[in-house]
Amino acid sequence: MRILIVGAGLYGAVCAHELSRAGHECHVIEKRDHIGGNIYTRHDPDAGCHEHVYGAHIFHTSSQRIWDYMNRFAEFNHYVNRVKVTHGEAIYSFPINLFTLYQVFGVRTPDEARKRLAEDLVANPSPANMEEYCHAAIGPTLYKLFIEGYTQKQWGKHPREMPADAVKRLPVRLTFDDNYFNDRYQGIPVGGYTAIVEKMLDGVKVETGIDFHAERETWLAGYDRIIYTGPIDAFFDYRHGVLEYRSLRFEKVLLDTADFQGNAVVNYAEASVPWTRIIEHKHFDLNLKEPKTLITREYPQAWSKGDIEYYPARNPESEALFERYREESEKLAPRVHFGGRLGEYRYYDMHQVVAAALAFCEKHPS
Ligand code: FAD
Ligand code: UDP
Repeated sequence: MRILIVGAGLYGAVCAHELSRAGHECHVIEKRDHIGGNIYTRHDPDAGCHEHVYGAHIFHTSSQRIWDYMNRFAEFNHYVNRVKVTHGEAIYSFPINLFTLYQVFGVRTPDEARKRLAEDLVANPSPANMEEYCHAAIGPTLYKLFIEGYTQKQWGKHPREMPADAVKRLPVRLTFDDNYFNDRYQGIPVGGYTAIVEKMLDGVKVETGIDFHAERETWLAGYDRIIYTGPIDAFFDYRHGVLEYRSLRFEKVLLDTADFQGNAVVNYAEASVPWTRIIEHKHFDLNLKEPKTLITREYPQAWSKGDIEYYPARNPESEALFERYREESEKLAPRVHFGGRLGEYRYYDMHQVVAAALAFCEKHPS
C-alpha cells in the first residue's frame, strides 16, 4: 500500500516506522523545515546540551511495553523532573508534597499535613470549574499560591471559567516525594529527541518544508491511505469553525554562567510575571560542565491562524465542535486517518502518542 503521512512528529514517525516495516511504501511530508514536531531538539555546543526547542520534554510512562519500545531508539538518562515554583521572593517544592506543605504551613509530618490541609479544604461534592475543584482538593491557600496565576497565564482564562481536567494530572502528596510524575519510568534520551525520530524514519522517504494544504487534492489523490497528524479543523478548511488552541512564544538566552537556576524547570506562579516557566536545558542532559548555559522563558499566548497549535484547549464548547469534525473524519475512514495531539485534539503526552500510533498500526496492518 502507498501511504502518505502528514507530519513528521512522534505520531507520524511511529506510524512510518511500523508501516514501512510491515511492507508498505511510506512517504512523510512535514511543513516545518525539520522532523520531530514539538519534540524537536538540537545540540547547543556552547552550553554542551540539547536544546528543547519547543519546550521541556520529559519522557515518562508506566507501560513496560512503551518504555521498551522507546529504548529501541535511544538510551535514556536517569533525569527525574523535580520542579520548583517561585511566587514572590519564595521558592517552593512542587508538585505539592510534604516539603511544600512544610514551607507553606510549617507542618512536618504526614499526619500534621493531613490535618492542616483538612482545615483549608472547601467541601464540594460536584465542583463546577477548576477553581472549585482546587478549593475542594487543596484549599484556597495553595490554590492561590500555585494554581490561580499560573493557570490564568497558561490558558488565558481564569480557572473559574475552565474545566478542572488540566490540573488533575498534577500529583498532591503527603510524603517528601517531589517527582513531577507518578510513572514507573522516566528520563531524557541521551542523544536528544530528534535522534529518536531520525531512527524511526530511517529508510523512509521524508520531505520537509511541505504544507499538505498547499496541494491537498494532489496529495489526497496520489495515495491508498493518508495518515494526517495536523490540526483536524485545518484539514476540513475550518468549515464548522476554528477549534480552541493555546500557543507559546519561546525566548532563548545563552548566559555567561555555568548554572543559572540550579534546576531544569522553575515555574513562575504569579500572574504579574509574564512567563510561566524558565527551563535550563543543560539540567535535562545532566551535564553542568560547560561555563555557559542556555535558558528559555516560555510565554503562553493566544493562538491565531498561522501560529503553532501547541495546546488543544479542551472545554465543553471546543469538545462539541471537535465532535463535529470527528464525525466528518469518520466518513473518510479508513482511507484517511487522523492521529496525534492535533489530529485527535487531545492533550496527549508522548507515551500516549506512541501508544495510540502503535494501536492504530496494529489495527490497520494493511
Ligand atoms: P506534533 O509534534 O505536533 O507533530 C505534528 C506535525 O505535523 C508537526 O511537525 C507539524 O508541523 C506537522 N504538520 C501540521 N500540519 C501540517 C501540514 N498541513 N502539512 C505538513 N505537516 C503538517 N509530552 C510529554 O510526554 N512530556 C513532556 O514533558 C511534554 N512537554 C510538553 C511541553 C510543551 C510546551 C508542549 C507543547 C508539549 C509537551 N508534551 C510533552 C507533549 C508532546 O509534545 C506531544 O505529545 C507530542 O509531541 C505530540 O506528537 P504529535 O506527532 O501528535 O504532534
Ligand atoms: N499548573 C499550575 N501551576 C504550576 C504547574 C501547573 O497551575 O506550577 C496547572 C496549569 O493549569 C497547567 C496544568 O496544571 O496547565 C498542567 O500542568 P503541566 O505542568 O502538566 O502542564 P504542561 O507541561 O502540559 O504545560
